[in-house]
Amino acid sequence: MKCSICSKPIEETFLKKIIGTYIKKLGSSKKYPICPECQKKFKKEELLTKL
Ligand SMILES: [Zn+2]
Repeated sequence: MKCSICSKPIEETFLKKIIGTYIKKLGSSKKYPICPECQKKFKKEELLTKL
């Protein structure tokens, strides 16, 4: 799993949950994985414009 913004690999917990978050584009069912650094750096609205 790679970050949709910076393309860095995102780690997963043993429960297969990613360390980070997913965001969804409006009107799309596709989920985009976001790493914790990008999550901290950008607001959700900013992330959406970068996808
Ligand atoms: Zn990232």
